[in-house]
Amino acid sequence: MEQVYWNPTMETMPREQLRALQNERLRDVVRRVYEHVPFYRNKMQQLGITPNDIHGVEDLHLLPFTEKQDLRNNYPFGLFAVPQSEIVRIHASSGTTGKPSVAGYTSGDVDRWAELMARAMYCANVGKSDIVQVAYGYGLFTGGLGAHQGAGKLGATVIPMSSGNTQRQIMMMREMGATMLCCTPSYATHLGETIREMGLEPGKDIHLKAGCFGAEPWTEEMRKQIEELLGINAYDVYGLTEIAGPGVGFECVAKHGMHVSEDHVIPEIIDPVTEQPLPYRTPGELVFTTITKEGMPMLRYRTHDICTLDDTPCECGRTLVRMGRITGRTDDMIVVRGVNVFPTQIESVLVGLEGVAPHYLLVVDRVHSADTLEVQVEMTEDMVSDTVSHIQGLARTIHERIKSVVGISTDVKLVAPKSIPRSEGKAKRVIDKRKL
Ligand code: ADP
Ligand code: ZN
Repeated sequence: MEQVYWNPTMETMPREQLRALQNERLRDVVRRVYEHVPFYRNKMQQLGITPNDIHGVEDLHLLPFTEKQDLRNNYPFGLFAVPQSEIVRIHASSGTTGKPSVAGYTSGDVDRWAELMARAMYCANVGKSDIVQVAYGYGLFTGGLGAHQGAGKLGATVIPMSSGNTQRQIMMMREMGATMLCCTPSYATHLGETIREMGLEPGKDIHLKAGCFGAEPWTEEMRKQIEELLGINAYDVYGLTEIAGPGVGFECVAKHGMHVSEDHVIPEIIDPVTEQPLPYRTPGELVFTTITKEGMPMLRYRTHDICTLDDTPCECGRTLVRMGRITGRTDDMIVVRGVNVFPTQIESVLVGLEGVAPHYLLVVDRVHSADTLEVQVEMTEDMVSDTVSHIQGLARTIHERIKSVVGISTDVKLVAPKSIPRSEGKAKRVIDKRKL
């Protein structure tokens, strides 16, 4: 396996040495927030601790958690640890689950974030001679500028398309000879399908070789679809506004979990109910402490994203811990007749199945005080013209498979091609009519 590292010192540092660096940086950030952010000073005082109690990572559990609500309560600038004059950039989360969180970056923060994203893209084999098409939205959302800065650091040629305008995207991709695509996995699917519909052929008309996709949960099945549609290697990249933006976690060629840049953040997995730290390889809620951020450092920020952490050595040689795919956000979880269901569980059943396209929507409702879950999935053109009994047979197969995965009966509805809205950014997979 070819081993390429953007920053070999940091990406392959022996773990004891990495731990020593984290200890030092953790002590520093705790001192900074205690001195400059009243919110953290108050929280630490309530817990009866001072920066002197934090010697290193082993004391992380003593520190307070930070919740999305804390950001909202201190909206917009209350958690900044430097004067506003030191802030060079503002970003905000997409607001998928409520009021957006605002983050402020110093010039050093922007550099460090670009470094994270450069590591991610270099890992996907992108270098100076590549042409990177950024089809994440530009603006307050961190996707567009995050990928832009990372590619810039690598010295690649950037096409700052932003999201949407699909025909134009494809025209540019083709005419400029883009070799790398950055966008959400759902938009990558849409781009791939449109390329095929236009009669274009990857490898001949389109020269993409890799893509870094993230900002929303997706499955291995979806990865295969995207790789086939676009003729590329598709890599998962994770991030969130409160911590940096995309690049906090990135996949290597092993495609077996995302390395977390632990020289900049300390990840933990906790039980979301008891809030107790969980051991490696046990699924739970991902929590981050930033150790190099200046503008808005975060202590034990609760992401509400569910995954595992794994410290076993990776075949790529990086010593950085790996986070597994995000199986869902606790906010996305739907409870149907008392059973927890994540959209990714349904996606893993649907995507790649013959006769259906990778577009689906879950509609939850309550009828006569019982929850119902309708799974809408698009048929392929071929399937639409098949016999009624074949279509019914497909619906029954899907029903049975979903039942074996999530344990409940659903109402499977095969819908016409293109009837489910396409996403240019984060896909909306669930409509919960119980909450309307
Ligand atoms: P939000 O979507 O909460 O408004 P952001 O725009 O900052 O906020 O997006 C961050 C969130 O996007 C993460 O907390 C996570 O839920 C989701 N996300 C980002 N990257 C990935 C990924 N690779 N896989 C799954 N989910 C992701
Ligand atoms: Zn690796």
